[in-house]
Amino acid sequence: MRWSLKLSVELETGETNTYEVAQVDREETFIAPASLGLSITESKQILAAVQTQMVTDQVARHNEALKACRFCGRRVRTKGYYGSVFKSVFGEAPMRLRRVWGCECRGAAHRTFSSIPTGENPTARELNYLTAKLAALMPFGKVADLLGELLPASAGTNAVTVRNRTMRVGRRLEKSAIAVPGMARREVSPREKSRLV
Ligand SMILES: [Zn+2]
Repeated sequence: MRWSLKLSVELETGETNTYEVAQVDREETFIAPASLGLSITESKQILAAVQTQMVTDQVARHNEALKACRFCGRRVRTKGYYGSVFKSVFGEAPMRLRRVWGCECRGAAHRTFSSIPTGENPTARELNYLTAKLAALMPFGKVADLLGELLPASAGTNAVTVRNRTMRVGRRLEKSAIAVPGMARREVSPREKSRLV
C-alpha cells in the first residue's frame, strides 16, 4: 500500500496549488513494529519537504507583492535575484530573493535592498533557541547528534555550528541585558539564557 501526502496552498487571489510532498510505502500482508506507522527518517523527510515548499511559496508571493513604494507609490524596480538558504528546525530551505532599488522619495535611489531582510545567515529564532537550550544541558557535539537524530535540522549541524548559534544567542542576551538598567554586569546562567531567547 502507498500513502501520498499532498500539500495545498490557497492564495489570496483564490488560486489553489497542490504539491505532492511525500510517499510512504508498506507491504500490505506483513507488519512488524519497525514498519508500523511512520519512521523517524520518514517524518524528517516529510517535515523538510513541507517546510521547503512553504518557504518557497511565501518568498515567491512576497517577491511578487512588492510592487510600489509604500511612501509615494512609485513602482519598485528590480535589480536582480539571488539565492540564500533559510535554516530552521525543519531543515534548510533554499530561497530565491529579490533585490530591489531604493526609492527617490527616501533618498535611496542608488542603493539596493533585499525584498526580505534576512541577513547573511538566515536562521529561524526557534532553531537558535532550541540549540542554545540543549547546549545548556549537554556538550555541543551531543547537541548536534541529538538534533540530527530527531529533526531535519541536522543538515550541516556539528559541534562548531552548535557553539556558534549558542554564542549568537549569548550576544543577543548581552545586548538585551545592557538595555535593562542594572542587568549589564550580572552573570546570566545558561539556563536563563535558554529561557530568555
Ligand atoms: Zn517612494
